[in-house]
Amino acid sequence: MATTADPLAISTIDRLDVGNRRVFVRVDFNVPLKDGQVRDDTRIRATLPTLRKLQERGARLILGSHLGRPDGAPDPKYSMEPVGARLAELLGCEVRLPDEVVGDGVTKLVHDTRAGQIVLLENLRWHPGETKNDPAFAQALASLCDAYVNDAFGASHRAHASIVGVPALVADKAAGLLLAAEVEALGRVIHHPEHPFVTVVGGAKVSDKLPVLLAILDRLRPGDSILIGGAMANTFLAAAGVGVGSSLFELDRFADCKNLLTRAGARDVRVLLPTDLRVGVGTKATTARVIQVESGTIADEEMALDIGPATAARFRAAILGAKLVFWNGPMGLFENPVFAEGTLAVAKAVADCGGFTVVGGGDSVAALQDSGVADKISHISTGGGASLEMIESGSLPGIDALLLPTNRSA
Ligand code: ADP
Ligand code: MG
Repeated sequence: MATTADPLAISTIDRLDVGNRRVFVRVDFNVPLKDGQVRDDTRIRATLPTLRKLQERGARLILGSHLGRPDGAPDPKYSMEPVGARLAELLGCEVRLPDEVVGDGVTKLVHDTRAGQIVLLENLRWHPGETKNDPAFAQALASLCDAYVNDAFGASHRAHASIVGVPALVADKAAGLLLAAEVEALGRVIHHPEHPFVTVVGGAKVSDKLPVLLAILDRLRPGDSILIGGAMANTFLAAAGVGVGSSLFELDRFADCKNLLTRAGARDVRVLLPTDLRVGVGTKATTARVIQVESGTIADEEMALDIGPATAARFRAAILGAKLVFWNGPMGLFENPVFAEGTLAVAKAVADCGGFTVVGGGDSVAALQDSGVADKISHISTGGGASLEMIESGSLPGIDALLLPTNRSA
């Protein structure tokens, strides 16, 4: 995007004056809930370093997040209450929770908040103005604070009030530590990639990921590679005339797949597609058979649900030779252990690679956690959609909003 500023130029909380000031932190506490409890607190933990640092420096903290998809109205099912309880446990301090997003009660609570204390606003999406980036709602949030911090990478691709509206109204603003780490790691993929650069993509939706692949392709050099697995690969194979039986693929993307291969060829970039596949009858299949793409046939009732062992070995060799790896999307239907091997092999290869490695995508990260090698990855992105959109367009609305001058009339 032509108007995008250099996201590496954003300022971090280190340079922000926070002592005894009201600091609004947009966090990503959009966590999975179960029976009224937080089921997975990864996202809450991810922002603790930022919150602790601001607390230590005497900020009066106002936290805001969305949670689930309430319809722009208060909905107890999506209350921040369980999140506040978990946060209080993790930080070992009280978290004060008003029962609304903005309003007189909130204003009073914030006014009474002292250095180091925390207020967690109710779910921002309880208010219809959040997703609409309504100016009056943004103004109401902005008037609660003296400084603004964005630490919600996973929500920064959305031009919502708390992501773009508020920072446009607040002069003192900065990226939290989590957002800054994401910008730095993804910046290494986007702005000054090292070569050989190996991109691994898989997962289900070609339509979502093809534009990202094309954007990456523009930055590749001869000797770089794109490895394609998962249902993504089925569309490429089907486009090349391979019979894929009942496999998941996207008929209307054949031309796009061929176009990508042509463009890669013109740049001397290798595109590796599966040469063997694990196929099974239906996604619940309890057995798999390996077929060679060249010589085998996938029966009408069979689905290609994983890359085969020879493909996994070729992918591993390419990954080990890389100075930079970006991986998004599992190599198969890894939720079924019969079809998890390809994804686990790629996870191990990325972990064993000596270069800089970045993994993004909700399912890819879940598979990585299953593999037990997550701690050997240079950077695991906390945002699926956000990381893809950042790679595609070079920045995100929430990052650009930190770089812009404020709209508030002097
Ligand atoms: P991410 O969340 O990492 O971005 P996606 O959401 O794009 O990844 O895709 C993940 C989903 O794709 C998983 O549920 C996985 O089971 C499914 N998937 C991957 N390969 C196949 C395949 N060959 N056939 C059917 N589903 C697949
Ligand atoms: Mg997913």
